[in-house]
Amino acid sequence: MVSGLVMEIGNGMQTRFWEDNWIQGGVLKGSYPRLYSISSQQGLLIGDCGFWDGLDWIWNFQWRRELFQWELELVNQLHERLRPVRLSSGREDSVVWKFDNKGVFSTRSVIQAIQAETLSAEITSYSFTSSVWKGFVPPRIELFGWFVLVDRVNTKERLGKIGVNILGDSLCVMCTKELESAEHLFLRCEVAWQVWCKWLRSLGREWVIPGTIREMFESWHGLHNREQGQQMWMIVFFAVIWNIWLERNARIFKNTRASLEVIHTKTVMSYTEWRGDDSGGGC
Ligand SMILES: [Zn+2]
Repeated sequence: MVSGLVMEIGNGMQTRFWEDNWIQGGVLKGSYPRLYSISSQQGLLIGDCGFWDGLDWIWNFQWRRELFQWELELVNQLHERLRPVRLSSGREDSVVWKFDNKGVFSTRSVIQAIQAETLSAEITSYSFTSSVWKGFVPPRIELFGWFVLVDRVNTKERLGKIGVNILGDSLCVMCTKELESAEHLFLRCEVAWQVWCKWLRSLGREWVIPGTIREMFESWHGLHNREQGQQMWMIVFFAVIWNIWLERNARIFKNTRASLEVIHTKTVMSYTEWRGDDSGGGC
């Protein structure tokens, strides 16, 4: 697990006792390698390493053989370590962010840690990554935009690649003509493309279709030298991809269908909302 992210234990049914990083001080397997090696509960969930006695959780460890005296001492240390743990039968385990300096969950701090630790050097070296996190739009929208740019949005193509085919087919629900990849959905699809064109026309710009969504982001990003103009283009970028995603989900999960006009109007509304009151041009 990414450092800084920790498990907050509820009923212990999503977290492995020995192997996961869920307790202050690090993974138990690493702290007590001897006990781990003789445990017959390797790989088991926390909730399978004990039982409820009324409202009290009782740990119940099982070993492959009788323990030596010095191993019993280790078991005592383990119990000491577990003493502050409070399981909660009515709640699922969840991942929480511990290292935010205000002690609260922050999308940005999480994503920066994930970006630094789990992605390939190729992705972290993209020049756009820092320009996503400017605070022009709400953090969850920045996060979404970033997922689009690094191709981590769960499009039908991506779900298919990881073996999840919950949506039945792999066709783009906007045009029902082509495979739903991020590149298609947000850029090449005729619906997306018309939304982009409407924005360009309203801003009096001519533009050649970029090859990839990343090139698109970078071309919009680099289009203006002035800080304010750049901010405007960035917000448009987020407004378009976000509303296309919402419309795509509405079509798949709610079976509703907005017209191109309505989709475009929604992007304008998002733009206006995120831009705030100090509008100095644009639509
Ligand atoms: Zn399409």
